[in-house]
Amino acid sequence: MLLYASFDIVFQEIPNEVTLAINISNCPNWCKNCHSPHLRESIGDVLDENIISVWLEQYANAITCICFMGGDADPYEVERLAVYVRTVFSSRNIKTAWYSGKEVLPAGISISNFDYIKLGAYIEHLGGLNMRTTNQRFYSIENEVMKDRTEWFWEKGYF
Ligand code: SF4
Repeated sequence: MLLYASFDIVFQEIPNEVTLAINISNCPNWCKNCHSPHLRESIGDVLDENIISVWLEQYANAITCICFMGGDADPYEVERLAVYVRTVFSSRNIKTAWYSGKEVLPAGISISNFDYIKLGAYIEHLGGLNMRTTNQRFYSIENEVMKDRTEWFWEKGYF
């Protein structure tokens, strides 16, 4: 089961998309100097098909993408909900994205269920995706292949 602490419509997490970003709590990663320490606690409401349906009915005309921010405590549930978005709301063409703090995807996760995947822990002195020094990688899934598109975040004026 996944819990979410908050959600918002954002413009920078996924380049060229208007994204409904869901901040998932109970993060198991414990990065040093975590930028969102409240997300390490088991707080918030259940993230399931019901609330996703409510959001997509409400915001489908405003967003182009839905992003699961976290969820490493139950990655298969993240994938299951991404599949739900793609199947039940296929006519809306909403893209699916996942921000994981892990270095690699868990065994059995199919990249074809996502349009975008970010991997990598937060290491403060290396910075986030907008820093050229970052350890994190942002991938676009193109023809069943993970293409490293981290440089999209470095384009002039993006941040
Ligand atoms: S993955 Fe994000 S929320 Fe989790 S510990 Fe690392 S910085 Fe904090």
